[in-house]
Amino acid sequence: MTQQSVHTRPRIVIVGGGFVGYTVARRLSRSLRVGEADVTLIDATGVMTYQPFLAEVAGGSVEPRHLAVPLRQVLKRTRVVTGRVTGVDRTAGTLTVTMPDGASHVEEYDQLVMAPGSVPRTRPIPGLAEMAVGFGTVADAVYLRDRVLARIALAADTDDLPTFRRALTFVVIGGGYSGVEAVAELQNMAQAAIRRYPNLRTRDMRWELIEAAGEIMPELPPKLGEHTRRRLTSSGINVRLQTQVTSMQGGAVTLSDGERFGADTIVWTAGVRANPLLADLRLPVDARGRLQCNTFLQVQGAPGLWSAGDGAAVPDGAAVPDLATAAKIGDNRRAVPLCGPTAQHAVRQAKRLARNLIATLRSRPMDDYRHRDAGSVASLGLHRGVARIYGIPMRGIIAWLLHRCYHLMMVPTWGRKVRVATGWAAALLGRRDLAPLPGGSWTLNLAGDPVNAADATGSVPHAGSGQDRLPLEADGRQSAA
Ligand SMILES: Cc1cc2nc3c(=O)[nH]c(=O)nc-3n(C[C@H](O)[C@H](O)[C@H](O)COP(=O)(O)OP(=O)(O)OC[C@H]3O[C@@H](n4cnc5c(N)ncnc54)[C@H](O)[C@@H]3O)c2cc1C
Repeated sequence: MTQQSVHTRPRIVIVGGGFVGYTVARRLSRSLRVGEADVTLIDATGVMTYQPFLAEVAGGSVEPRHLAVPLRQVLKRTRVVTGRVTGVDRTAGTLTVTMPDGASHVEEYDQLVMAPGSVPRTRPIPGLAEMAVGFGTVADAVYLRDRVLARIALAADTDDLPTFRRALTFVVIGGGYSGVEAVAELQNMAQAAIRRYPNLRTRDMRWELIEAAGEIMPELPPKLGEHTRRRLTSSGINVRLQTQVTSMQGGAVTLSDGERFGADTIVWTAGVRANPLLADLRLPVDARGRLQCNTFLQVQGAPGLWSAGDGAAVPDGAAVPDLATAAKIGDNRRAVPLCGPTAQHAVRQAKRLARNLIATLRSRPMDDYRHRDAGSVASLGLHRGVARIYGIPMRGIIAWLLHRCYHLMMVPTWGRKVRVATGWAAALLGRRDLAPLPGGSWTLNLAGDPVNAADATGSVPHAGSGQDRLPLEADGRQSAA
């Protein structure tokens, strides 16, 4: 179907309904005058996922639906299209959208906001794409929770020692925020689960966190990073620094120091790169595939094109005292520090982008994006955390409470806040909910093939089986390197 319309108002189209897309649409609907512009948001899933809660979903402290914000329901003055953008024609000013039923649809735009986020940055490691799953979607988090519970149940029932060892070996690769939170929450949940099996002991499990650099969570001050490493180690997670995985063929993990062991559960959290859709624009990108933007959040050399978030290389205004100079040296991106891929930057950039877009429509001057990083908070399992707020380091239960309060404040809509808080309150009254989904949940491995948590043979792909049961995810995983 082709949508050809006679239009009198500027058409603003937003691609991606994550942190950036959702925030831009909300700001525009609040600030645009009635009839000033038509706003359309296109998202492959139709929901905004609050990713900072994924680790708590994996650990069972937050219900999966409570971090999924239905865009159509919350964006009242925006036309929301659930479909995957598969092509951009800048000359014609059109987008090709593939709808869930496979039909194609053309959207026209005058102003385009590209915010399709990022995908896992993979490496050419034999077996990686087939054996590992990422940690960026609700499906990944639910799968991993069920996977750990299913492996513990398998270990309790098997008489075969190699099967027992593989089932109870869990490997997370990448010691950044998402890897550390994932391994901490999953292991914490597994410790509670294993106590319910009289024939299993906590020390039967092997948890490995593998990091190529010399430290984990480099965003934290070194002392706090070291505290985090000791905290994980004392709870039974083997943290390996300056170690790389060189092969995962057949589920046997080989490390750069020559060690080799079997593992049924492997999670890849070693960095992200921009969504490959952005390459369609044929514009200059940085080393991570991000569109080069100026401090107004406009894509350089492309009038009418805007970007922010994980897919945009935006000069970090707070780190560049003289932004006028930064703009002048815009061609030499290496000279200008760029904002990192965080929700904190994504939301603030989106607010500035929306204001600048409206300023452009009204022929008013725009403002630079400047945001001083407020710090970060992370959960290390129930009642444990680390945080750095405006340079002040914190740890233990105080940091964990800050993590919960901050994210409760940030998760969109009052309805979601109440549901998450009610879930936490209910957990205080009863025992931890350790029920897996009957039949096992599904996600995609890094090769884009469906995998089932209850599958007895490890993360081996089952191409073709169960495809129709998978939620539509917008992560471009098919292009794993
Ligand atoms: C596990 C995890 C934990 C994190 N924790 C934190 C944290 O504690 N603090 C923090 O600051 N940051 C955190 N982050 C990072 C943060 O989530 C990202 O920086 C943020 O989501 C980037 O926002 P975005 O809008 O650019 O992309 P996203 O929020 O990822 O949104 C992209 C959207 O684009 C859609 N999309 C993709 N491709 C297409 C397509 N072809 N067509 C249509 N739609 C498409 C997707 O469906 C998605 O809704 C975390 C990330 C992860 C994975």
